[in-house]
Amino acid sequence: MTIYNLGSINIDHVYRLAALPKAGETLHSRGLSLGMGGKGSNQSIAAARAGAQVVHLGAVGQADDWVIDRLRQAGVQTDRIARRTDQPTGHAIILVDQDAENCIVIHGGANTALPDELVTRDMARIGPGDILLIQNETNLQAEAAAQARAAGATVIYSAAPFQIEALRAVLPHVSILAVNEGEARETFATFGEDLPVQGLLITRGAQGAEYRDLTTGTRHHQPAFPVQAQDTTGAGDCFAGWFAAGLSRGEDAPTALRHAAAAAALQVTRPGAGDAMPDRAEVMAFLS
Ligand code: ADP
Repeated sequence: MTIYNLGSINIDHVYRLAALPKAGETLHSRGLSLGMGGKGSNQSIAAARAGAQVVHLGAVGQADDWVIDRLRQAGVQTDRIARRTDQPTGHAIILVDQDAENCIVIHGGANTALPDELVTRDMARIGPGDILLIQNETNLQAEAAAQARAAGATVIYSAAPFQIEALRAVLPHVSILAVNEGEARETFATFGEDLPVQGLLITRGAQGAEYRDLTTGTRHHQPAFPVQAQDTTGAGDCFAGWFAAGLSRGEDAPTALRHAAAAAALQVTRPGAGDAMPDRAEVMAFLS
């Protein structure tokens, strides 16, 4: 059972400043750190560290081999990541002031220029039992979702950053929709609560998470584990990646939820997004 993740790969450039710049102002940074970000690569790293077999389908620019190495070190299969000569690797410029307030600019770059072959060729072997994971930071989601469903795979759609038109295009092909509380509210406002999916995962930050099996009407609630949160960037990606990994390993929904909540609790105690994802041994130790 393989997870194919058609997703973004971003390099986060985090600049620390005394204060955020105003229009027209030039400021010196107090520090810079580079890290793995992007909802796609975050979820691939989370799922691979959870013990799933993960094939990442995505693209980077020319000179960023360390990003691929970082994914590979996490256990992600990277041979289907395309290199674009005409696009930079997707990246985020993140400015953080001394009160932890931030401003973020994202440039999609290679993430939004994925070649069609990622779907037409590299997903050719997806089949029943496999999972396609998608988010909203690339092109080709609807095409990939349609093909995966036609092949009998489970499509898990982490519908963030939230865009109602993207959701409208992808929803007919989705098996499980994963949203946070705000995204759930916007989804229900447009489509109602009776969605045409088999499962609905709603994460609610420190309030925990809920999984609704819409085929049986069953609801499972998972409280969050109390921790001292330091940086919640990527918490939802950690949860989605671990939940997908649990299902791919044959876990039932309550077990996958519990493991995902423990993983996300550990993740928020560490700085960074993709680099902060815990592995299975850490999660099992936390739960024991
Ligand atoms: P997103 O990052 O997509 O907005 P959430 O904020 O809902 O996602 O967080 C996803 C999950 O991460 C939550 O369901 C919870 O399990 C865990 N989590 C988030 N914030 C905390 C926190 N402060 N303490 C413990 N767990 C947390």
